[in-house]
Amino acid sequence: MSDLLNYLKEHSNQITDTLLRLTKAESPSHTKGLVDNCGKVLREEYEKLLGNSVEMIEKTEVGNQYKFTYGTGDEEGQILVIGHIDTVWDEGALPIRQEGNLLYGPGVFDMKGGLTITLWALKALKETGVPLNRKITFLVTTDEEVGSTHSKEIILAEAEKSSVVFVPESSIGPDGAVKTERKGAAQFLMKIEGIAGHAGINAWDGASAIEELAHQILDLKKLANRDEGISVNVGVVNGGTRGNVIAKEAVAEIDVRITKKAQAEKISEAICNRPIFVKGTKVEVLGEIDRYPLERTEPVIQLYEDLKEIASAHGYELKEGSSGGASDGNFTSGIGIPTIDGMGPLGDGAHTEQEHVDLSNLPYRAALMAEIIKKYANK
Ligand SMILES: [Zn+2]
Repeated sequence: MSDLLNYLKEHSNQITDTLLRLTKAESPSHTKGLVDNCGKVLREEYEKLLGNSVEMIEKTEVGNQYKFTYGTGDEEGQILVIGHIDTVWDEGALPIRQEGNLLYGPGVFDMKGGLTITLWALKALKETGVPLNRKITFLVTTDEEVGSTHSKEIILAEAEKSSVVFVPESSIGPDGAVKTERKGAAQFLMKIEGIAGHAGINAWDGASAIEELAHQILDLKKLANRDEGISVNVGVVNGGTRGNVIAKEAVAEIDVRITKKAQAEKISEAICNRPIFVKGTKVEVLGEIDRYPLERTEPVIQLYEDLKEIASAHGYELKEGSSGGASDGNFTSGIGIPTIDGMGPLGDGAHTEQEHVDLSNLPYRAALMAEIIKKYANK
């Protein structure tokens, strides 16, 4: 058995302790005080396990971010691991409980389990004395669950210096498949302005924003293409004031998913430049595609092959899969840095009351992360 896996299996209880500490420090995205507290706990764990190469990036609107660096190797071509400490759970909304090997609780799977794995992967590399020729940067942000507005910039800046990016977000399914593909996503807001009128007295003079919206929704649907993996969903509509008034205003929220970066421009243009169906109405669309797809490129396939080989040496088969949801890995992949996602623990139920991880498997996932870092840090 590999030294790294051995070391991690021997420290299984301590790994669970780290996850418990992080989970108890609840961190709903919108509550800065709580997220900051969780960041402090993460920092303490890092310092306890690995030392003090920690940089805190102070934020006013969201929780403070952290940049942990490990090793003395080159920064250029560094290895980047990205994670987030915020969760979708309000404080107290989901109690922590353990059933056998399964730990249930807010953010255990998305993604405090992944943060735990990363800390312990680095700890194992340190304790087994693995030499690394490249620096490892572990960037932890605090607003992933609410769009990453305050972290996109730093993620891109770090990614630009990196040769490869690992994202220990939740894995897929019962076997913990890694994600070699994620859809790109975008939200658009459509605002329609019509001409108000009395529905009885001047029924033919107005221009109904709602009628225009109805046309728009059906027309937008034509942009979807199942074979090409493009979906369009109008998820929220609003408009009008009273039944007897021709609607002056209507708005719609549109969600778009794509599978290839090459699709982005065409679909953005089609959504933002709308034809007009009802004379007298005006249509404005706000938004852009800000997360390109995580594409299964050649280097990503190679990364997966390398991971598979490590897993097989550890006695199990590692599968790959794709996800319709986007993560911060979409940013790094979008600028062409090979990115592999879903490196987090075995578990299930992200964002639901069934959110849990398999504690007994954590040493294996940490060993997977440690071995792949070892390989790419010495390439
Ligand atoms: Zn997540």
